[in-house]
Amino acid sequence: MTNQEDLKIRIYDIKSQSYQMVQRVVKSDAQWKGLLTEDQYDVLRQHGTERPYCSVAGQGYKTGVYQCAGCGTDLFLVKEKFESGTGWPSFWQPVAEDNVGYQNDTSHGMRRKEVHCARCEGHLGHVFDDGPPPTGQRFCINAAALKFVEDKK
Ligand SMILES: [Zn+2]
Repeated sequence: MTNQEDLKIRIYDIKSQSYQMVQRVVKSDAQWKGLLTEDQYDVLRQHGTERPYCSVAGQGYKTGVYQCAGCGTDLFLVKEKFESGTGWPSFWQPVAEDNVGYQNDTSHGMRRKEVHCARCEGHLGHVFDDGPPPTGQRFCINAAALKFVEDKK
C-alpha cells in the first residue's frame, strides 16, 4: 500500500474547484510516442523548444483552461495569459503551484528555471522573473505542451 500512496500527488482541479489526490502518470518512451504527436513528444518528453509563433488554441477566449497535452492536468488559465512579445504562450502564474514542478536548467550556456507538469513530468517551458504584476513571473510555455479546454458555463 505504501508504494501506491507514494505514487499519488495533490493537484488542483478547475472543474471541481478543489484539490484532489491523483496517481502520477508514468509511461515508457514508446508509450508516449504512441500517444503524442511528434511536436508534443519533442517538447514534453525530449525537452525540445518549438519555434516561436506556433499557434496555440484559445486565442480570443476570455475563459478556459490550458491542460497538459500529455496527461490532462490543469496548468494555466486563459485569464492569466499575457502578450509577452516573445512568440510563446506566456502566463503570470500556474493554476496552482502543486500542478507544476521546477528544475534548474543550465543547458545552452544559460541559467534558467525549467517548468514541468507535476503529474507526468512533461516539460512545458521555462519561468523568468521579468513578468507583469502581480507575480512578476513569466511562464514561457511551448504551445505544443498545452491543450485548450473552453469553459462551458
Ligand atoms: Zn502532464
